[in-house]
Amino acid sequence: MARVGKKHSTDFYELRCISCGRTVREKESSTRCPSCRAPLDVHYDLGYIRSRLNRYSLRNSPAKALKYLDFYPLRNLDLVVSMNEGGTPLYRCTRLSERLGFRDLYIKNEGANPTGVFKDRGSLVELTKAKELGAKAVCVASTGNMAASVAAYASVAGLLCYVLVPEGTAIGKLAQALSYGARLLQVRGTYNDAARLTEEMSVRHGFYLAGDYAFRVEGQKSQAYEIIEQLDWRPPAAVIVPMGCGTNMAAVWKGFKEFYELGLIDRLPRMIGVQADGCAPILTAFQTGAERPTPVEKPFTVCTAVAAGDPVDGLKALAALRESGGCGVILSDAEILDAQQQLAHLESVFVEPAGAIPIAALGSLLTTGRIRPDEVVVCVATGNGLKDPKAAMRVLPSPATIEPSMAEVDKFLKLRLYEIRAAGARDGARSLFEKAPSRPRVVQTVRAELGVKLTAEYAKRVTALVTDFVEKGKRITKADLQYIVESVLKALSEPAPILQVEDFQITTSLKRKASAKVWFIFDGERAQAEGVGVGPVDAVVNALKSAAESRGKLFFDLVDFQVEINSPGTDASVETTIIMKDAKNDRVVATGTSPDIIVASVNAFVEGYNMLWSRQKS
Ligand SMILES: *Cc1c(COP(=O)(O)O)cnc(C)c1O
Ligand SMILES: [Zn+2]
Repeated sequence: MARVGKKHSTDFYELRCISCGRTVREKESSTRCPSCRAPLDVHYDLGYIRSRLNRYSLRNSPAKALKYLDFYPLRNLDLVVSMNEGGTPLYRCTRLSERLGFRDLYIKNEGANPTGVFKDRGSLVELTKAKELGAKAVCVASTGNMAASVAAYASVAGLLCYVLVPEGTAIGKLAQALSYGARLLQVRGTYNDAARLTEEMSVRHGFYLAGDYAFRVEGQKSQAYEIIEQLDWRPPAAVIVPMGCGTNMAAVWKGFKEFYELGLIDRLPRMIGVQADGCAPILTAFQTGAERPTPVEKPFTVCTAVAAGDPVDGLKALAALRESGGCGVILSDAEILDAQQQLAHLESVFVEPAGAIPIAALGSLLTTGRIRPDEVVVCVATGNGLKDPKAAMRVLPSPATIEPSMAEVDKFLKLRLYEIRAAGARDGARSLFEKAPSRPRVVQTVRAELGVKLTAEYAKRVTALVTDFVEKGKRITKADLQYIVESVLKALSEPAPILQVEDFQITTSLKRKASAKVWFIFDGERAQAEGVGVGPVDAVVNALKSAAESRGKLFFDLVDFQVEINSPGTDASVETTIIMKDAKNDRVVATGTSPDIIVASVNAFVEGYNMLWSRQKS
């Protein structure tokens, strides 16, 4: 059939319910079946698509989502909403292959899309459809990436965009969605709470409902088309896809099937689905042979992008695994964060945790024989790591801050501070001591866990500090031990500081201001000072200020004070950061760590003051 203008001349596709088979007009619904609420699917007249197929241009123009317009259910190509998505790199992973024992391992880096995620491919079709249907505004529920993607495309389309996300959504994704102009609400609840509200919102207010529905699948299937083209039209043996709602798994599988049915490839890959153990409803159903997923009430995983407890496209994803002869692997957060690091270290591809789940699964797929080492395997790295930097920082050392002097750089190298921090960051939450340990035990643990040999003097101080913490009821984790060792190494490599705090005492009550008393040594001389404040931290900081001001001739000012709680629980370690400046506006940033917020604040203050003092002297 010939092309008439830029419009398709025929109904070359229809929407059909995947459960009751009913045909649905797209003006009626493009999300769920009006009769049975099951998801819809787009069915094509493949003969029509085949008749329009330009095999020459398909083979000879570079892969890009826009290249496949004829494979999308769009009627008016004048309305296409695009940001030039797709065409993402397919990397051959040589170092990772070698490490894991594969021969032909690839990463499809979907983080290279305009908003950093494969969802842009779906937004291309979905927002174009919203315009075709005359929408004035769209609404969407999201764990963050969908929000950013739909917001960006809605803005290009000139449509208002309302977004509902669960509270605690990754900061990079929030900032993106808001910047693109989305009107965003955070819901105190899960992704599925947000999804339920959004569906209702679309009906009540007449907004176009965007999200993991049939038209999005049509856009996202271009990942499969591109993989085929980038492998020179030889389909891979297996493709590994992280699953949240299961929509992307369904989309990639549909893409492969269409190329197969059009005779563009002669075999199909096995689809391997991967999920995090804090939210694995699709794979639990797959493994137990259940017909449909049982919802997970409270998903809990570092991979927030796949924390969909009641997956909209669970049935489609299960069908993809079963039809393709594929399988599934469920991974722990620790394994996934480790894989995220491996991928970054070995291949310089930085993904968000969800995007690393396929990498985490490779080892077990190989050892259980579900993938052979000589097979061509593609992992879909779904999203860019910059969207959720906090997740990556959970297993990375927070970089030390130094004074701007070469002596500080030398000290950093000589004391091996980077190595100690890096060791402490790996598995940092593991508990090491719950009771006061002996000195030999401390020496042995420090060597095994942090790779440092303590001399007698260092060992004595580290043991004393560990004992101190334990006696206050704190269990010592690996990260705590790293902090203690580092502060002892630093303290002993420096001359005695001008200000040292020996003890403090605080009185607080419901009705009166808090008051604090500190006993300190200034330049070798013992003294005490007092202060009051709105709370205990404020009071002790004021007492310290008065201690310093009464002795030293150093003008200083507190610029900022921040508190961060590092790990969950009541015995978590607290990190305080104090920024101070002197009369010449020179600033220092000092930190203190302790299970006790007041001790952490005292430590930060003392460190900051001593830094300002030594700067002034030099
Ligand atoms: C949305 C998303 C997924 C999951 O895709 P579904 O279609 O919900 O299964 C995986 N990774 C990232 C980065 C995502 O944004
Ligand atoms: Zn139905």
